[in-house]
Amino acid sequence: MAEPILQLSEIRKTFGALKATDGVSLDLRKGEIHALIGPNGAGKSTLIHQICGSIRPDSGTIRFLGEDMAGLDMAARVRKGLGRSFQISSLAPEFSALRNVMLAVQARQGSSYRFFRPVAGDRSLTGPAMAMLERVGLEKRAKVPAAELSHGERRQLEIAIALALEPKAFLFDEPMAGLGPEGSKRLTGFLDGLRHEAPILLVEHDMDAVFALADRISVLVYGRIIATGTVAEIRSDPEVRRAYLGD
Ligand code: ADP
Ligand code: MG
Repeated sequence: MAEPILQLSEIRKTFGALKATDGVSLDLRKGEIHALIGPNGAGKSTLIHQICGSIRPDSGTIRFLGEDMAGLDMAARVRKGLGRSFQISSLAPEFSALRNVMLAVQARQGSSYRFFRPVAGDRSLTGPAMAMLERVGLEKRAKVPAAELSHGERRQLEIAIALALEPKAFLFDEPMAGLGPEGSKRLTGFLDGLRHEAPILLVEHDMDAVFALADRISVLVYGRIIATGTVAEIRSDPEVRRAYLGD
């Protein structure tokens, strides 16, 4: 089997007495969607933060494209190709949807993200940024300030920003949250195709989406992975059903 694109080994992080991630090992392979599921407080977001570099693990290693990420800050990891869907709060609310994506395109081209304001109308930025908005179906809202977009549209915008950074792996933390059935369905279709561009580590509570999309599922409970397997394996695992799927 090909070397995994992203590989976590024995990742530990405590907050006081709480073991938020208690020795997590998992990998993400080319072409796959690997879903990470588990109850609230299981440590899913803490794990994503550690991959992004916003939280440092107490111990364990994170290798991405064969390289140890330990010495790299968040911006350096983005430049290496670790893409995440940015939280809504990180959008520049007063800027148009297009300009938010332009900032990401510019970051991809070498400037540090968010610290340099693009010249409005710069074609080398507007062209690619517009293309990203079209991919997520937001092109008609290009000129609308991020603050005036609906919740679902802001989610689309975050994904456009993630795409603009041309990542070699995607990290998504509950992208379906608050989208409603129609929006979730649309995003599910989109993610389905996206895995062929770059593999996706998908934290998601929407089990319809997870079962429709995941090549593999890992189940995190109290900071520990209790099972990893295919959809069929996870659905029929008695321990998983007890711990998480609710019977
Ligand atoms: P999940 O995303 O699976 O719902 P989190 O990773 O957000 O879980 O949280 C895991 C546990 O760690 C929770 O008990 C949460 O309260 C705790 N936690 C998360 N971040 C912090 C922090 N910065 N300081 C203290 N406790 C935290
Ligand atoms: Mg979370």
